[in-house]
Amino acid sequence: MFKKAAVVGAGTMGRGIAFAIGVKGIEVTLQDINEEMLELSKDYIKKQFEISIEKQKITEEEAAKNLEKIHYTTNLEEAAKDADIVIEAVLELMDLKIELFKKLDDITPSHTILATNTSTMSPTEIAAATNRPGQCVALHFFNPVPKMKLIEIIRGLETSDETMQKALQFGELIGKECVQINEFPGFATSRMNCLIGNEAMNMVMEGVGSVEDIDKAMKLGLNHPMGPLELADLVGLDTRLRNMEYLHQTLGEKFRPCPLLVKYVKAGRLGRKSGKGFYDYSAKK
Ligand code: NAD
Repeated sequence: MFKKAAVVGAGTMGRGIAFAIGVKGIEVTLQDINEEMLELSKDYIKKQFEISIEKQKITEEEAAKNLEKIHYTTNLEEAAKDADIVIEAVLELMDLKIELFKKLDDITPSHTILATNTSTMSPTEIAAATNRPGQCVALHFFNPVPKMKLIEIIRGLETSDETMQKALQFGELIGKECVQINEFPGFATSRMNCLIGNEAMNMVMEGVGSVEDIDKAMKLGLNHPMGPLELADLVGLDTRLRNMEYLHQTLGEKFRPCPLLVKYVKAGRLGRKSGKGFYDYSAKK
């Protein structure tokens, strides 16, 4: 049923999703408007295959074969025209996602499922831009995709039972665990996670503790696998700010983005991807 997939947007998430699909031997094309992002994705995906071989999750022969099944292009039509499922992972901007879904609706065959990897936004609103809202769904992957087991499947207002079933089958096919969530801003995970991260940022701003100590307190005291500030750096502070802005707009005051987060993004401190966020990564590059 899922012979070919396309992933649109080759940033932090898109490249991870393309790897998660490709490593299982499913043909996948990764598309981005930015050639440099595609080049970076190629290196990233190659590295992920090496890690999988080291961990004996895949043999060298299988890795070589599956690596060949991952394609890269700047041409959306080429990527999506014969895909059974398309997963959109572009910036968290509603207008951009709507514009893309309209194009995908025109390009793809009538059976294709159109999925968004949005962290917070309404799959119903995105689906309404298409003539196939029943075949639209959100598949929310987690960062880093190769390591993180979960896909949060979000059912929009018009998402059909058949699409939900197929989304579950797709998740299983690529070896992920799934939860089914009814649409509400921020779903189950981002709503909680953004609030924790924002509170940690407010605590840094208020001088409650150092970045390191706040993260350490959450890890060793509350058993979080990562501190909320190192996690925000991994997500990308620009992406996190867009998430917070959307949640603030839809869910109200308690989601007001921490002013320190706003200031960091203005300064170009975007976390790991820019070399500096709450932590400094420049020495590790
Ligand atoms: P990112 O900024 O790392 O990458 C976005 C990519 O989209 C860039 O490579 C950009 O060139 C590309 N792009 C922009 N416009 C495009 C277009 N019209 N067509 C094709 N490509 C285009 O963003 P990200 O962090 O990977 O986030 C992508 C999506 O995934 C967002 O909706 C975000 O909320 C969601 N998400 C992010 C995380 C995370 O931890 N970063 C986790 C889960 C979900």
